[in-house]
Amino acid sequence: MARARLEPVYNPVLMPWFSYHGGHSGQFCHHARDSLEAVVERAIEVGFTHYGLSEHCPRYRTEHLFSDEVELGLDPAALQREFEAYVAEALALRQRYADQIELLIGFETERLPPESWAETMRAIRDSAPFDYMVGSVHDVDGVFVDYSEVQTLALAERFGSIEVLQTRYFEAVADLVETLRPDVVGHIDLIRKFDGPEACFSPKVMVHVDRVLEAVRGFGGVLDVNCGAHRRGLSPVYPLPEILERARAMEIGVTLGDDSHGVATVGAGLNDCMRAIANAGYREVCYLTRVGGGVQWLRAPLSDVGPRNDRRR
Ligand SMILES: [Zn+2]
Ligand SMILES: [Zn+2]
Repeated sequence: MARARLEPVYNPVLMPWFSYHGGHSGQFCHHARDSLEAVVERAIEVGFTHYGLSEHCPRYRTEHLFSDEVELGLDPAALQREFEAYVAEALALRQRYADQIELLIGFETERLPPESWAETMRAIRDSAPFDYMVGSVHDVDGVFVDYSEVQTLALAERFGSIEVLQTRYFEAVADLVETLRPDVVGHIDLIRKFDGPEACFSPKVMVHVDRVLEAVRGFGGVLDVNCGAHRRGLSPVYPLPEILERARAMEIGVTLGDDSHGVATVGAGLNDCMRAIANAGYREVCYLTRVGGGVQWLRAPLSDVGPRNDRRR
């Protein structure tokens, strides 16, 4: 898979509407709903021109299974088979719906297993003709930080403070970004998922956020502006306004992610992402398109971005 290059190109013919982090479905992810085909049909219905499917990668150790997977009696081998089935179905759908929507097929990373995540993620990336990769970290030292507030607080206590946990998280994100150079850098401040609407980071922690942003800028990566937790009333869209403003000052590109986990959440909340992007001072947003056997980032003015069936401009 060739990594997408970021070019300052705008195609004035197309008024795009897009999301690259999401498209999880109950068919291949046990905490999502509906078939992948139903998700794709919904994406067409709500006016997407480009829609990225980025199913969670498999997890390879029993201790890293999600609780719903444990309850179903699944094991890592079952997750591997499901992921392979996801890739086959996604590629088939990409072709089947090609005249209605541009589907981009990817996956979302983990920083797991803790000792061999880099080789493991590269092996996944090379295992199929993926269009792109969403680089995400959901754990610190093998403990998920987006599962429950209780679990995240317990982990902070183990490290001595929330600040130390946040620092460890951002160090992990920077490391993943530098190592894998993912096309889309997923929800970079997921660590504050349970901190509510007043979430903020101390100046000490912001130093580590800056390191993540430097890493993203270093290879021309694009930030996922993601409404997953916001939609559930948990927190502002990722990343926080302060981080987004810094990213804009550093001229780091941004794109949209609905983090959909079924038909009901396809496209839901993306207007809040657009607002956050505009409020941070961005004038353009990046979208990924397939071109000549590879992919390329394009830029569109914010005023030109919106659902296909909502073109009143
Ligand atoms: Zn998920
Ligand atoms: Zn995620």
